[in-house]
Parts: sequence; structure tokens; C-alpha cells
Amino acid sequence: MGLFDTKIRDAFTQFLTEKSLRKSTVRYMILEHICQIRGHFDVEMLLQRLEGNNFHVSRASVYNMIEVLMEADLVVRHQFSSTLVNYELKAVATTHHHAVCSNCRKIKEFKNDKISKEIANHKMVKFTPEYYSLYIYGLCSKCKFRLNLQKKEKKNK
Ligand SMILES: [Zn+2]
Ligand SMILES: [Zn+2]
Repeated sequence: MGLFDTKIRDAFTQFLTEKSLRKSTVRYMILEHICQIRGHFDVEMLLQRLEGNNFHVSRASVYNMIEVLMEADLVVRHQFSSTLVNYELKAVATTHHHAVCSNCRKIKEFKNDKISKEIANHKMVKFTPEYYSLYIYGLCSKCKFRLNLQKKEKKNK
């Protein structure tokens, strides 16, 4: 376990203590898997990984754990489209922005210090920003290529 994982684990323990919630093995096991993933995940992916490592956890427990982690401010929820929901460790999510392909729903992460600084320095009236997510919607190069090809084929018919 690296320093990153230890920090998150400690923050989680502190949260559970404050809220007088059970420090169950299952909760820590799920958190450990989330830390291993590092990137985006959904409930299915998490369940598969747990299964793959021979940890049999119910879907309800995973949902519940994600709720607890969001309340603890350790995990954020990304609603990329009406049907695409992903979760991510907040500590990871704050390091990048997201480009979402509107066609295949693939998500590309990118970093841009200029945008980050601009938003961090942006003063708001009667509002205290705490966190933000940036999604840029468009077409990935594969989809753009494919869609252009389809257009050309239609023209040639
Ligand atoms: Zn992300
Ligand atoms: Zn695409």
C-alpha cells in the first residue's frame, strides 16, 4: 500500500469514527479495490474486480459503500451522459479534466494547468467554490473518422 492509499484509508477511518459507522472488513476491502483502480469505475467494474479476487460482495453493499465514500467526500460521481455514470476518487478526479465522446461515450482525461488556475482564481459573488468537474463533449478521432466515412459513402450512393 502506497502513501496515497494510506492517506485515503486514514481519512475514511476518521470519517467512520466521526459518524460512528462500522469499520467492517468489507468496507476496507472495497476501498482497497477502488484505490487499485485509481481511475474511473462503475458498480459493475468494481463487482467484477472483487469477484476476480475471490471477494464475494453483494451489489447492495457496493452501492452502499459508494454512498458512504461520497458522504465522506472521498469519491465523486460523474454523470457523463443520461446513461453513463462513473465514480472516481476525489483525490484523482481533481488532477484532470474530461473529454467525453458523444458518440461512443469514451472518456479521455486531459490536464491543463491554465484552465485549472483560471478556475481556482475565479472569485464568485455570494458563493464559495469547493470542487468542480469539467466535461468537454465532442467526438473522438475514431468516431469522427468513421462518421466522415459514412457521410462520404452516402454521398457516393
Ligand atoms: Zn477522471
Ligand atoms: Zn468516440
